Amino acid sequence: MMVNIPDKMKAIIKEKPGRGAKLVTVDVPKDLGSHDVLVKVYATSICGTDLHIYLWNKWAQEHIRPPQTMGHEFAGEVVAVGEEVSMVQIGDFVSSETHIPCGKCKQCRTGNMHVCQHLKILGVDMDGAFAEYIRVPEIVLWKNDPSIEHVWASVQEPLGNAVHTIFVEDVTGKNVLVTGAGPIGLLAIEVLKTAGVAKLIVSEVNSYRRELAKSIGADVVVNPLQESLVDVVKRETDGDGADVLIEMSGNEKALIDGLTSLTPAGRASLLGVYDDDVMINLNDLVIFKAIRIYGITGRKMFDTWYRVGDLLKNKKLDLSKVITHVLDFEDYEEGFHLMEEGKCGKIVLKL
Ligand SMILES: [Zn+2]
Ligand SMILES: [Zn+2]
Repeated sequence: MMVNIPDKMKAIIKEKPGRGAKLVTVDVPKDLGSHDVLVKVYATSICGTDLHIYLWNKWAQEHIRPPQTMGHEFAGEVVAVGEEVSMVQIGDFVSSETHIPCGKCKQCRTGNMHVCQHLKILGVDMDGAFAEYIRVPEIVLWKNDPSIEHVWASVQEPLGNAVHTIFVEDVTGKNVLVTGAGPIGLLAIEVLKTAGVAKLIVSEVNSYRRELAKSIGADVVVNPLQESLVDVVKRETDGDGADVLIEMSGNEKALIDGLTSLTPAGRASLLGVYDDDVMINLNDLVIFKAIRIYGITGRKMFDTWYRVGDLLKNKKLDLSKVITHVLDFEDYEEGFHLMEEGKCGKIVLKL
């Protein structure tokens, strides 16, 4: 059943290899498979991945096949459903997991769909959410509580990254170090505030983001280019070091300083992605300190989504500071420039 759906729509696409993105008119993806859903997008946020695609870095060159609609973080309304769809209905307010699992491999069958062996990613392996309409398989759709505002609902995917990274072990009453206060690091600070951590220390090289980290609620904010992060963490924790490291930067120095700042038998969760191979002294930083390191990718499906959804529904998180810019869809170039300069938290485009 299709009601009032146009044939054409606006979309921001990666048109060809090289820097940039283009606003174009494309066909609305009306050909739904039996388990597909068509969503009218209300708000879509810009991810670091989208910036990589915009800038056309090495990763993008290896993973993106232009022309393709960009974007993967969104909130919108279901406007059409395939004939077998049973989890959502027309009119539902939804967002979506961006990792599309096969549902059949070992990981999918053992509670680890987020690392499915045949994983497809929205806006990377298929057309994404920087468009008026997006086609998504129902298995990844997430029903939002209608009370959540569109802009906030659109950032649940990166918010889920933060929640997944933080809660692989408990943090309550602990001294936590966050290295890197980019958009996901900033979301992590907001989440950590709700979790009753003892002390929250944040390191970040960008002054705009240090200010933001402070205003969101970090107890101590460090510029690691100006003072020794290790010394600051020691001083702030009576010489013991941090109990938990949340590594969001993807920077080798931050990782090494973070691990050095950890107290023996502490825990590190690594979400940041590194440009190159990283050299660390495993003996001194990990083995003899009995550190537990978790590699984190994506969100636990769908444990993380229940946590994120409930936190937002019950108004336990305030995203008003983390989301620094809400721009018109047409002003996407401004969004990418702000992200490139680092003069922003999370940026959302409204349709
Ligand atoms: Zn994302
Ligand atoms: Zn699978």
